[in-house]
Amino acid sequence: MSGKCYIGPDLQGPTTLKETCDVCIIGSGAGGAVLAAGLVERGLKVIMIEEGGYYTKDDFDLNEAHAFDKLYQDRGLRATAELGISILQGRSVGGGTTVNWTTCFRTPDRILKHWERVHGIEGLDSETLRPHFESVEKRLGIAEWPFESANANNKVILDGCRKLGWDVAPLKRNVRSCANSGYCGMGCPVSAKQAMHKTYIQDALEAGLLLFADTRVKRIETKNNRVVAIHAQALDRESGKETGAKLIVEPKVAVSSCGAINGPALLLRSGINPNGRVGKRTMLHPVVGLPGIYDKPIRGFYGAPQSISSHQFVDRGEGKAGFFIEASPVHPVIGTFAFSGFGAAQRDFMATLAHNAVVLGLTIDGLLPEDDGGTVSLRADGRIHVDYPIRPFMAETFLEAHIRLAELHLAAGAREMRTLHTEPLFIRSTSDIEKLRDKSYGLLEHPIFTAHQMGGCAMGPDKETSVVGPNHQHHHIPNLFVVDGSVFPTSLGVNPSQTIYGMAHRARDFVAEAV
Ligand SMILES: Cc1cc2nc3c(=O)[nH]c(=O)nc-3n(C[C@H](O)[C@H](O)[C@H](O)COP(=O)(O)OP(=O)(O)OC[C@H]3O[C@@H](n4cnc5c(N)ncnc54)[C@H](O)[C@@H]3O)c2cc1C
Ligand code: SF4
Repeated sequence: MSGKCYIGPDLQGPTTLKETCDVCIIGSGAGGAVLAAGLVERGLKVIMIEEGGYYTKDDFDLNEAHAFDKLYQDRGLRATAELGISILQGRSVGGGTTVNWTTCFRTPDRILKHWERVHGIEGLDSETLRPHFESVEKRLGIAEWPFESANANNKVILDGCRKLGWDVAPLKRNVRSCANSGYCGMGCPVSAKQAMHKTYIQDALEAGLLLFADTRVKRIETKNNRVVAIHAQALDRESGKETGAKLIVEPKVAVSSCGAINGPALLLRSGINPNGRVGKRTMLHPVVGLPGIYDKPIRGFYGAPQSISSHQFVDRGEGKAGFFIEASPVHPVIGTFAFSGFGAAQRDFMATLAHNAVVLGLTIDGLLPEDDGGTVSLRADGRIHVDYPIRPFMAETFLEAHIRLAELHLAAGAREMRTLHTEPLFIRSTSDIEKLRDKSYGLLEHPIFTAHQMGGCAMGPDKETSVVGPNHQHHHIPNLFVVDGSVFPTSLGVNPSQTIYGMAHRARDFVAEAV
């Protein structure tokens, strides 16, 4: 049996296509793809619906402007309600994996233990997840990227941490025959990245998956606490507008794999929120960055975007949130994204781009008792509203991260750092670092961004405080599952994709049993 992929123009309006299936999966990213391949392999009839387009290597032209437009949610301009946090999130067949920077970590044991202790999630420990991780690591070629292959941007982390005596380690990446080009965020032009469209979705299509790309699910229809239909609309790829062609799928089991933010929003639009918990505990790993200028060329736009990290500060003691350190690629659009100045100041900053190394502090949100992250809700017109307050402990974490990133840059030989505040602080020596304490880190006082959206459909055993059970099944609608990063009750303290792959691999049996 072999499957089929419908893309936008295949469904022309005004028509209504009706389909039935065993499982309908909404979303084709890290969670949806791994799940789909396993279900098709078990002989089930699976339909997958993805609002983004189906692109492959020949579509990826290394151009940031094209990539943001085609491959990111809201054309790369998604943000929280006050525009204080920029949200980079994928939107194409493959979801975030088409554009992600390929960093892979298994879920830290301490996080799984926290989920058990604080959120009551049993049966999800490192040993249970091990065979699932081993399987995805094999399929996706997840392996360590050697220190020798790291670009100069990442070597700043290596050099700085070694001089300071901090923890530092090479990262694992899901690549095969990677050309070290540095363009992961624009879609891999040589298919070295083992993204979902190239791996699990291809496997699933070969085994019989029916995939509708350029098709947005508008509503999940329920009756007597059962999903009875999924209502979707075909989209015109260029304008993003609905073409008038409709798709109605009547599945035995429905799965939301739309990712954090969109997944909770779909449940809210469908009126599926019996305990009011949908959209709550949305986590972002909020990021502050610090560019450092070096005399030598860094050229952070070339080479694997991330290859070295430091987990020196993941545990800062009671009452404090931890953070971890990674690098950011330094392409022009992403550079201007972070830079808050205009005109001549921006021109001067861009003129130094090739000599800039950008290091990031990613805050581990959701672990402190007072930290329940942000909230996804709907505006009156149905559009998504993301609210994420910067509480005092978070501002303190941003400041501490900046202090440590400045120490790192100085140790690695930076000539100067320029913070991204509206009124920047220039740091040239250790004595300048203390001046960071006079800067503010609230919303819109310093650029914050996220590429790791998690939570919003939190997992847990309690029907009143969580959305799905530890087996991903909705507490109130037994033929609805959520399989993506939205089920995490906290953030992870590591990049999330491999946890999502592993949990989706584990969820295959649970979903199949419900058919
Ligand atoms: C620039 C960038 C870099 C990143 N780098 C890394 C990294 O190096 N390592 C790492 O671990 N993680 C990284 N991530 C994050 C990682 O890719 C995501 O955490 C992961 O892909 C999330 O998986 P998911 O299954 O939850 O959702 P996604 O992968 O986001 O998939 C959800 C899919 O559902 C679709 N969808 C949503 N709503 C609907 C609807 N109503 N109808 C139909 N389809 C819908 C979306 O278009 C999307 O394709 C990065 C992300 C970005 C954006
Ligand atoms: S760095 Fe490797 S995986 Fe990323 S785009 Fe280049 S070749 Fe592809």
